[in-house]
Amino acid sequence: MIIVLRPKTEEARVKQVEAEVRKLGYEPRAIRGEIQTVIAAIGDERGHASLESLATWPQVESVLPVQRRYKLVAQEGRKTPTVVKANGVGIGGAEPFCLMAGPCSVESEEQLLIVARAAKKAGATFLRGGAFKPRTSPYEFQGLGEKGLELLALAKKETGLGIITEVLSELHVDKVAAVADILQIGARNSQNFSLLKAAAGCGRAVLLKRGLAMKVEEWLLAAEYVMSSGNGQVILCERGIRTFETAVRNTLDLGAVALAKRESHLPVIVDPSQGAGRADLVIALSRASAAIGADGLLVEVHPHPAEAKSDGQQQLDLEGLDQLVKEITPFVKAAGRCA
Ligand code: PEP
Ligand code: MN
Repeated sequence: MIIVLRPKTEEARVKQVEAEVRKLGYEPRAIRGEIQTVIAAIGDERGHASLESLATWPQVESVLPVQRRYKLVAQEGRKTPTVVKANGVGIGGAEPFCLMAGPCSVESEEQLLIVARAAKKAGATFLRGGAFKPRTSPYEFQGLGEKGLELLALAKKETGLGIITEVLSELHVDKVAAVADILQIGARNSQNFSLLKAAAGCGRAVLLKRGLAMKVEEWLLAAEYVMSSGNGQVILCERGIRTFETAVRNTLDLGAVALAKRESHLPVIVDPSQGAGRADLVIALSRASAAIGADGLLVEVHPHPAEAKSDGQQQLDLEGLDQLVKEITPFVKAAGRCA
């Protein structure tokens, strides 16, 4: 940490700050300028008490962190990127670009199996589908719950696809983990720290969506919760953030994908469906995701989007899925990530 003192702080008050820094476990090094003194506090900021409260001292102008607050998630010090393994499939590193496809919500056996077969045929390795759905209104379809999990298990049995589905509550972690190969933590829950810790403990890989108003640092720190709870199998998923733009449901932040890839060794995938909230933009955003170096896609597909019980406006139909695969292939090839 760097502690910047106010101009012309007397020596006695500089000494007070140095003493406090020492008390908190750091070694203070004062740099005395003509007008201002700056104190560098040497020591691991992640292991020692926080110095931020020094900002309330009258002689302190500001306290600036130097180190990153996440250590397990950080790229720094890692030689190779993390490859997450789920259902025998590798995600991240030099593994092939990973396609996860399926409906927003699991609605019926027929609906799920139609999409699962199409996803398999299109080259997807994971079937997505929400059994427990986070809905803005309590009057909207909340998902089939445990029945939905049973249908996902059935689809896995028939197709061999891995399963990714959302866990909404700590109460459901075991039930979801019994069926899912990857537990999805949704955007609305991505800073629900007790859920993150509970999900980490189930032994399955965790896909962590970026929250609607989450800074990249906060997203990485949420991933740090999972990793520091003993689960290194974490996938980051950019799904758009809330901005002033109303032409799209969310603003897909591909810059954050490039940044997360640079800052972290974890795989980063993109959800272009929540990312724009419009089916007509999904393929273009998917091409861009492959080109920018994402490790895969989580995309919503429904046999009849107009009849979907959730997110119909943003789901591709089966032809749309085939078209998506066709259009991303040159970009996946260029990124060197073909199967
Ligand atoms: C979803 O994947 O259907 C979903 C609800 O995603 P998010 O949490 O990103 O809104
Ligand atoms: Mn959805």
